[in-house]
Formats: sequence, structure tokens, C-alpha cells
Amino acid sequence: MTLEAPHDVMVRFHEIALKGKNRPVFIRQLVDNIRRATIGIGVKQVWAGRMFVRISLEETADMNVVRERVSRVFGAVKFAPSYRTELDYDAIAETVSAIAADRSFESFRISAHRADKAFPMTSYELNVKLGEMVNIQTGARVDLKNPDLDIRVDLMPREAFIWADEYPADGGLPVGTGGRVAVLMSGGIDSPVATWRMMRRGCRATLVHFHSFPLVEGRSREKAQELAELLNVYQYDTRLYLVPFADIQQRVILTVPGPLRVVAYRRFMIRIAEAIGRREGAKALVTGESLGQVSSQTLQNMATVGEVATMPVLRPLVGMDKQEIIEQAEHIGTFETSILPDEDCCTLFVPKSPNTAVHSEQITVFEDDMDIPQMVADAVRDAELFEYHMPTA
Ligand code: ATP
Ligand code: MG
Repeated sequence: MTLEAPHDVMVRFHEIALKGKNRPVFIRQLVDNIRRATIGIGVKQVWAGRMFVRISLEETADMNVVRERVSRVFGAVKFAPSYRTELDYDAIAETVSAIAADRSFESFRISAHRADKAFPMTSYELNVKLGEMVNIQTGARVDLKNPDLDIRVDLMPREAFIWADEYPADGGLPVGTGGRVAVLMSGGIDSPVATWRMMRRGCRATLVHFHSFPLVEGRSREKAQELAELLNVYQYDTRLYLVPFADIQQRVILTVPGPLRVVAYRRFMIRIAEAIGRREGAKALVTGESLGQVSSQTLQNMATVGEVATMPVLRPLVGMDKQEIIEQAEHIGTFETSILPDEDCCTLFVPKSPNTAVHSEQITVFEDDMDIPQMVADAVRDAELFEYHMPTA
């Protein structure tokens, strides 16, 4: 038997298996998301099993593309391109032998697992018999602890799946099981990572970006659009709001003393994002803040900023170090875009010595001079909406 590429991919999940009576809901969402993520790349069908999801492929499917897509579907923990055979020793042995013939290795093990006890041999008997066969065929020795090659044989009620390569996925929960959040997404490194971490917990994210165009000839809008497109890979449909912030900044500069301005800007961003989020059905706001990273991210300033929100403000990066955040950004694929130079709407207007402990009374005396509801309503009205979609069937 010559070895073709496997025609199935078996996807394992952990955490969703633990969700009790919600389990079918999570598995259905996982299956829907895998279907969506793999449209147009030669996937024939996606099937829900009890302990795995099975993806069956056309012969033309490119396994590298399939791997890349599946590894980004949240809820999947690991996956394995697999060969499917009848529940018959000879058929299984033929495939195991073909896998062994296709590779070079000095040590191996067979790991059989009977999900269905009806098969006439025990897992142990299968391991021994297949092991002897591979040993005679290749001369490689059996090593149960640290083999070069581990050939897995899963016996299901109606068929067997055999595989030797397994790949990690990002885990988490399927997007769509966790409700919607509105993310304050700058063009920087942190907030795209915060977005990803919320999506990985099952949330759909609406993105809100504030820019100072045309006051500033920056590229932050283009960066935000590029980031939205990159993040859309994980949630399939994304709305990005580009909110003009220049008028508010000019108003703040006229009204609020320098050291307090960053906190004043952030309070406006929170109010506007909340107004957009409410329209979008979001249940919480999300920022990329990490405690103590910069002067605006002290505990006191976070408190003074968060106070204007009526929705919870979630900060998924709050306890992370910059280096960890950078590594995640690289893994997600947003880092290269995030570090492109741009004139962030705040860099220009940030004073040299921002106050690291602004109390709300210090800000409200100046806010009282502004028509905040009107300013928020104007910004929401002038926001531009961009939409991103993975292809639909
Ligand atoms: P990031 O890497 O996400 O830009 P940062 O470390 O630069 O974060 P700040 O500039 O203090 O930190 O911003 C803190 C948070 O405020 C950001 O993570 C983001 O959630 C929000 N934010 C800042 N600027 C903007 C913007 N122009 N549009 C939308 N949200 C913003
Ligand atoms: Mg920033």
C-alpha cells in the first residue's frame, strides 16, 4: 500500500467537554466555526463526535492550509491528520505498516485505544501485535517512554482512525459561546492581544478605534483596518468603528491641564466605546491595559478612567508583562502590523509629565464645562464602520 495524504483530521477539545448540559451547544458552535474557517479549502464535511470533531477532506485539500486554519479555531486543543480504516485487524495493520514504511525512525510505540469495546482484540493485544509487525518490517525498537514515532490507533464504534502526527491548537472556547464585547483597539501591540484573549474565551469582539485624522496625518486608521482583518481570522465576522477624536482632543486641550489630559481622553474613549458597544449588544468593554506599564495605567488612573463606564471594563492583559504580550502578538500574527510607525492619536497630545494618580474630582471640575453627552453623540454619529467577513458557503 502506498501512503496518500490522510483524508480526515480529528480535532480534540478539552474544556468544552466539561460544560455539562451546555456541551452540545459548545460542540455545535465548534463545528460551525470549523466549517466557517475551512470554507473553500477542500473540506467535505465536519462531523461532531462525542470526544472529537472529524473533518473529512477532498483528495485535493492542502493539508498545510487545513492545519493553519484549524489551529486558529478556538475550542480545539489539538488535532491530528488521520487515516480511516474499517474495524478490521488486517485493514488497520496495512495502514500502520504504510505509515511506518513512509518514515525513518529508530524507536516507536503503538498506542491503541478502544472507545468501542466490541473490537475482538484488547488495546494491549493490538499494541503487541502491531508492534511486532513494525519491528520486523523496519528493525526499529519499541520504546514506550520516548519513541521517535508514536502511531496512534483509535477504535471507534464503526471505524478506526490511525495517525502519527498531532498538532496543538489554541484551546479556549468556541467564538460565539461567550457574548459580545466592545474593544478599545489602538494600533499598538497590546489591545489586539487583548481582543484575541477575549475571543479565545468565546466572545465576539466589536472593535473601536479612535483617530485624530485629519488633525494628524497618521496611519493609525490603516493600521486599525489591517489589525481588524488579521483578527477576523479568529472570529469570521468583524465590525470596526473608526471614531474621529480630533474635536474632542482639541476641546480637552482647551479645558483640561496637561498632566490630567490622558485620563480625560481615556474617559471620553470609554464613554464613546460604551455607546457604540451598547448599540452592538456588547455586555462589556475591553482594553489592552497592563498594570503599571505606562503612567496612564496605574491603579488609580485605571480606576478614574473605568469609573465613567456603566458596563464592566475587562482588562485581559492586566497582569501580563510586556514580553509575554509581545510573544502572544507574534503568535497571533498582529505584532508586525502593531509595530509599524504611526502617529497614535494620543502620542501627540500627551504631556511630558502626566499625573500618575488622577482622582475623579480633579477631572470632573473640568468636565463640568463640557457638554459630554453631545460630544459623545457627535463622535458616535461620525464614526465610520468597516466590516470584515471570512467567506460564507
Ligand atoms: P496598546 O498597545 O493597546 O496601544 P498601550 O500600551 O499603548 O496599549 P495606552 O496607550 O495607555 O497603552 O492605551 C491603553 C489602552 O487604551 C489601549 O490598550 C486601548 O485599549 C485603549 N486605547 C488607547 N488609544 C486608543 C485608540 N487610539 N483607539 C482605541 N483605543 C485606544
Ligand atoms: Mg498605544
